[in-house]
Amino acid sequence: MPLIEPVSNLSIKRSVNLYTLILFISFGALLYWLATDRYQFFVDSHENTANSTTKIVAFQINKILKEQKRVVGIFAEDTRTLLSRLSDNPNNVTIKNRLIERLRKYQPDFVRFNILSKSGTPIIENLNSDNDKICLEDVKKNIQNKIHNISLHPDDGDYHYDITSTFSTNGTKRLFFVSFNVDEITDLLNSTQSEKHSLILVNTGPNNSVGIDSQGNVKKVSGSMNFQIHNGADLNALAKMQIKDTNWYVVDMIDVEFFNGYREKIMTEFFIAFYIFAMIALFMRHILLKQDAKRSLSEEQLKQNHEQIKILNNSLDQLSKKDSLTNLYNRRYFDEMAQHEWNRSIRTQNPLTCILLDIDHFKKYNDHYGHQAGDKCIKDISDLLRQSFKRSGDIVARYGGEEFIIIMPDSSEEEAKVAIIKFQIALKKLCIPHKASDTDQHVTISAGIIVQVPSTNSTIESFVKKADKALYLAKKAGRNQWIMHKEEKISHWARRM
Ligand code: GH3
Ligand code: MG
Ligand code: MG
Repeated sequence: MPLIEPVSNLSIKRSVNLYTLILFISFGALLYWLATDRYQFFVDSHENTANSTTKIVAFQINKILKEQKRVVGIFAEDTRTLLSRLSDNPNNVTIKNRLIERLRKYQPDFVRFNILSKSGTPIIENLNSDNDKICLEDVKKNIQNKIHNISLHPDDGDYHYDITSTFSTNGTKRLFFVSFNVDEITDLLNSTQSEKHSLILVNTGPNNSVGIDSQGNVKKVSGSMNFQIHNGADLNALAKMQIKDTNWYVVDMIDVEFFNGYREKIMTEFFIAFYIFAMIALFMRHILLKQDAKRSLSEEQLKQNHEQIKILNNSLDQLSKKDSLTNLYNRRYFDEMAQHEWNRSIRTQNPLTCILLDIDHFKKYNDHYGHQAGDKCIKDISDLLRQSFKRSGDIVARYGGEEFIIIMPDSSEEEAKVAIIKFQIALKKLCIPHKASDTDQHVTISAGIIVQVPSTNSTIESFVKKADKALYLAKKAGRNQWIMHKEEKISHWARRM
C-alpha cells in the first residue's frame, strides 16, 4: 500500500476555484440583497414621512379654511344691515369703506370682498385684474353646481382663497365672498417641510393646473396630476392628499437627485466591500494553491524516497539471501528455505530431493592455479548449477567453500538422477582444466543424493546429513561420481562419468 494516498493537483485547484467562485457569488448576492434592502428601507421611510406630512397638512389647511368660513359667516350676520345698504347703493364709497374697516377688524389679512345676487350676478365687484375674474367664475360655477363654497386661486403670481357666505335682507338672499391671502397656508407648508422634501399645493381643475409652493410662489403644472413643474426643476411626487371639499391637493415632491445620490452611495459601499472581500478571497486562494503545490512536492519527494527505500530493502534482502561470489543463495537462507520445503513436503507427502556437491581436489586447484582462478572456477560451476537446476521450486545454494547444495521439491529418484547426470555432462563439456587433479584432467565434482518423502519422525538436518554421507561415500569411492542414499544401505547406483 502506498505511504500516502496521492491527491490529484488538478482536482484541488478545481475545488479551490469552484469554492472561490461560490464564495464570490454568495457574497455578491448577500451584498446586493443588503444594498437593495437598505435602499428600499430608505425609500419606504421617506414615503411614510411624505404620506403622514401631506395628510396632516391637508387636514390643517382644511381646518384653516373652515375656520375662515365660520368667521366670515359670523361677520356677514353681524354686518347684515351694512351689507344690505351697500348692495342697494353699490357706489356709496362711505358705506364701502365702513364695511372694509369693519372687515379688517375681523380679518386683518383679507384682500377684497364682492357681493353677488343669488343667481351670481355681481353687485359689488372689488376685482382689479383679469386673473381675479377666475374668482368670480369659480364662485358662479359653485353656485350653479351647489358645491365648493371655498376656492383657492392664483392671482397675478400670488395666491388667495375665497370664502363665500350668504346674507339675507328683506327676504332676498345675496352672496358675499371675501378673498384672503394664503400666507397662513404657505407658512404651514413651509414649517412642515421635511429635509429634501418640497410640499406644494396643486390645483387639479382643468383651467387651474398650477401649483403653489411653500414660499407662496405660483408654479405652472403640466397635466393635472403629473406634478412635473414646468420651469425645469425635476421633481417627483412622493405622496399626495386632497384637501376636503376642494380640488386642491397637498403634494410632497422629492428631489430625484436625493434618491439617486443615496443609491450611488450604497453602490459605492457595495463595490468597496466586494472589492475588499474579493482581494481577501483571492489572497486565500493564492495561499491555498501555494500550500498545495508545496504539499504535492513533498508528496512527490516522499514517494521517491519510498521507492528508493523499497529498492534498497530489496537489494538488502537479496544481499542477506545471496552469496556474494557466486550469487547463489547462501547457507543461512538455504536452511530457512529447506526447512520450509521440508514442512511443505510433510503436508503434501511428495518426495523431496537433496543433492550435496563438492569440487574434487580443489585445494590442489587453488595451489596450482592460484586463489583467484579458484574463485572463477567456483563461479563458473555455480553458473552451471543455476542453469541446470532451474525447475520451479528448485533451490541452489553455496553450502560451504567449494560445496553446493540443491533442494528439488516434488521430484522422484528418477528425476533426481536425470538432473545430476545432465549436470555432470554439462560440467564435462565446460572442460575446466585441472592438471593437479588425481582424478581427471578437468575439474570434476562428487555428489551425494537423497530422495525421501519427509515425515514428522525425521528432520531436515538428518535428511541433509544423509546426502552428506552419500557424498562422503562418493569421495571415498574415487570422486567424480554421485551416490544415491538408500535407507539401510547406500545405493550402488553410483555412477562414474
Ligand atoms: P576433496 O576432493 O576431498 O574434496 O579435496 P579438496 O581439496 O577439494 O578438499 P579440501 O576440503 O581439503 O579443500 C577445500 C579447499 O577449497 C580448501 C580451500 O582453500 C578451498 N576453498 C574454499 N573456499 C574457497 C573460495 O572461496 N575460493 C577459493 N579459491 N578456494 C576456496
Ligand atoms: Mg570440501
Ligand atoms: Mg573438495
